[in-house]
Amino acid sequence: MDQVILVKHSLIDHSLTILRDKKTKTENFRKHASIVSTVLLLEVMKNLHLTNVPIETPLTKTLGKKLKENIIIVPVLRSGLCMIMGLEGLLPAMNVGFIGLARDEKTAQAHEYYKKLPKIFASHLVLLVDPMLATGGSLDESIQMLEKQGAKHIVIVCIVSAPEGLHYITKKFPHILIYTAAIDKKLNDRKFIVPGLGDFGDRYFGTV
Ligand code: URA
Repeated sequence: MDQVILVKHSLIDHSLTILRDKKTKTENFRKHASIVSTVLLLEVMKNLHLTNVPIETPLTKTLGKKLKENIIIVPVLRSGLCMIMGLEGLLPAMNVGFIGLARDEKTAQAHEYYKKLPKIFASHLVLLVDPMLATGGSLDESIQMLEKQGAKHIVIVCIVSAPEGLHYITKKFPHILIYTAAIDKKLNDRKFIVPGLGDFGDRYFGTV
């Protein structure tokens, strides 16, 4: 699966361990979710295209560089939201779209309850963020929605992935890259990732 980029970083290892620990309280969960998300997104943005721009420093004229791509970040509600909290410092001009999908606890099928997307052009880089890639059902729906709206360049960013979901998405969308901080063992019969970290949204928002 060369579409899958497993991001390696000591800060990720450290923070992910705290996220996985069932004793971790909401406050600490939020802090470390933000650290992992930031490291992941910095990695995704490491190789963005740049364009040369002439500038003038207080001393002389020189050439600088500016980001070429327009970036749209799309969190899959609700837990995708947890990955973009605090990101405005990193990408102050980013456009944000929202896709609301709820997972039926029994069937694990995703259904849409909200959608608000900015205008998407072929030149946009769309970062689709969802912390837990389990079956891949929500991402499948989200990718189809984004492509229908004109997205040509989508990158998925998640924290923990299950092999089942990775297999499903990479097979169905061979043109899409997936950045993840961990590839876990499997899904259980309730479609939770094992070892995983439980319900990400509940733990982040304190709705357990
Ligand atoms: N969503 C979660 O929050 N956790 C899982 O393990 C799977 C999907």
